[in-house]
Amino acid sequence: MIDKYKVFEDKVAALKKDGVYRDLPVNSGACTNVINLNGKRVINLSSNNYLGLATNKQILDKANQAAAKYGTGAGSVRTIVGNTDLLEELEEVLAKFKQEEAVTVFQSGLNCNIGTIQAITEKGDLIISDELNHASIIDGVRLSKADKAVYRHNDMLHLEEILASKRDSYNTVLIITDGVFSMDGDIADLKTIVSLAKKYNALTYVDDAHGSGVLGRNGRGTVDHLGLHGEVDFIVGTLSKAVGSIGGYVTSKKIVKEWLLHRCRPILFSTALPPASIASSIEAINILMQTDEYTNRLWSNAKYFKNKMKEIGFDLGHSQTPITPVMVGDEALTMKFSKMLQVEGVFASAIVFPTVPVSKGRLRVMISAAHSIDDLDYAIMKFESVAKKLNII
Ligand code: PMP
Repeated sequence: MIDKYKVFEDKVAALKKDGVYRDLPVNSGACTNVINLNGKRVINLSSNNYLGLATNKQILDKANQAAAKYGTGAGSVRTIVGNTDLLEELEEVLAKFKQEEAVTVFQSGLNCNIGTIQAITEKGDLIISDELNHASIIDGVRLSKADKAVYRHNDMLHLEEILASKRDSYNTVLIITDGVFSMDGDIADLKTIVSLAKKYNALTYVDDAHGSGVLGRNGRGTVDHLGLHGEVDFIVGTLSKAVGSIGGYVTSKKIVKEWLLHRCRPILFSTALPPASIASSIEAINILMQTDEYTNRLWSNAKYFKNKMKEIGFDLGHSQTPITPVMVGDEALTMKFSKMLQVEGVFASAIVFPTVPVSKGRLRVMISAAHSIDDLDYAIMKFESVAKKLNII
């Protein structure tokens, strides 16, 4: 008889042989600057809790109040009885924050990309996507019936070549890019994308999961940072990173939102966000609108860390944001570097193929406003000593 599971046994054995098998680390507390991972206290350099808001007392109070009033679950998809006044309020607050006409909220950033890209394109359209766009964009593009083209990372000449040769053969053309690229921390050349979109009559779609709460005035995002308000058709953000909660959203014109509410599959077929998470997001966005204290601290921590690491001789790629890739190259060496740092009390996750291309392994350091200078100094010291042992520097 054929062993039904042999195929999985072979695949997992291959991961182990290649040195890229990993056990999921277990965190037994809040995901903040210092965490208890697999029972060991470590400096946490791998969370997307950029501003430290996931443990903010004022936000926690709002979450608790919402749970007491609305319960723990939404109970239904939005189109039936899962659409609360709280969720409507979140969409209004986000529209104000992003200075856009309308916002549609989803259960996650991934759901938002998967649902929106599919809903706004159809057969006869063309989607043009940066080669380093996030996996959720890639999946959204795969689910769309439109044709697809991929341009080399941030290569505007290549993007224009595709537009010039293909534009006339399609109805709608949609250009999609990450605002801040999640594995390298570089910023999209949005000004050129916007002007090419105008020239070739295309729609623009920016996934700003790592720009929201980080770039622009009070963390309004990449579009604000580059002074492009009103020029981008769709801006996606996530509530799971700088906002410290869970959920995703897309900005659009009101008429497009009406369409999204009728055709986005995660809205139609998956239960709405839990009330406590919605209330947390509302409070976090209100805090961001009132103060730039958190974004300022994030940037000063990021500059401190990056300057010291560069002085030591680390290759930090071409990051322009608090996402700091510490380049290693070889996959197995990258995994070893991460494991040895963890033993020394520093957690920086190893990123290897297929998340990044083969031989582009790196430790991805995520700086947060929650880190103290002592946390950063300790991490830098351990980075240096372990990297020297491994001949990385
Ligand atoms: N887009 C980008 C660029 C991301 O980095 C992520 C998260 N890794 C997402 C979308 C998905 O967001 P979420 O975690 O809210 O699903």
